[in-house]
Amino acid sequence: MSVRLYAFTCGYLTIPRAFMLQGEHGLITVPVPSYLIVHPRGRVLFDSGLHAATLENPVAHVGEMLASFHTFHFHPGEEVGARLAAVDVAPERVDVVINSHFHFDHCGGNAQLANADILIQAREAEHARAVESTQGYLKGDWDTGQKLRLVDGEHDVFGDGQVVCIPTYGHTPGHQSLRVRTEAGGEFVLCGDACYLKESLETLRTPGVIADKDAALAVFHRLREMQSRGARIMFGHDPDFWKSVPQAPIRLG
Ligand SMILES: [Zn+2]
Repeated sequence: MSVRLYAFTCGYLTIPRAFMLQGEHGLITVPVPSYLIVHPRGRVLFDSGLHAATLENPVAHVGEMLASFHTFHFHPGEEVGARLAAVDVAPERVDVVINSHFHFDHCGGNAQLANADILIQAREAEHARAVESTQGYLKGDWDTGQKLRLVDGEHDVFGDGQVVCIPTYGHTPGHQSLRVRTEAGGEFVLCGDACYLKESLETLRTPGVIADKDAALAVFHRLREMQSRGARIMFGHDPDFWKSVPQAPIRLG
């Protein structure tokens, strides 16, 4: 049975370019992606975007500190629940949310997915618990009460090789990406923040804000290897790349 993959844009953020590429100046406006994977045995969401509270008042939700270097471009209808509803998937029918990591722009929508298990690397959950609401984490976003499925390293979600979490530690201590095999479009690697931009992979330039630079570089090399074997790399926050990505309800793969 085949897997279907869909991409959603759940708003945009304007941030310093130096976040994306060390040493750069100025600002960049980047997409906040989320993906729906429909497997015969379950509906999976990879990352859930921003919290719906930031539609109205982002400063109140994320605090002055984060708001000082993130400008939100996020409008009603762009939150993950609405994106899902627009393709006739009720948010409460999502079975599993796989978060690349628990930064606020990747798990803010978890609160809208009440019946989903949250699948995360154990070391990412541990790190989030340690930092609570600092360093890009917001406890109210990642600690939403659903059942946590903690995994350690590579994890085959359905046991058939079609949806596989791959550890890509570096951006954060427990970051993971997702490899999805589709019949229609071949193999995709949903990077999350393991690789922000197409340029990052081409030039091997790391971001300015990073937990472990050597680990992140090793991940770049693994992504290049997967790319050379035919996988399509879905860069995490690349505005130019993202223009070419078909949006749901059009299938990505
Ligand atoms: Zn991010």
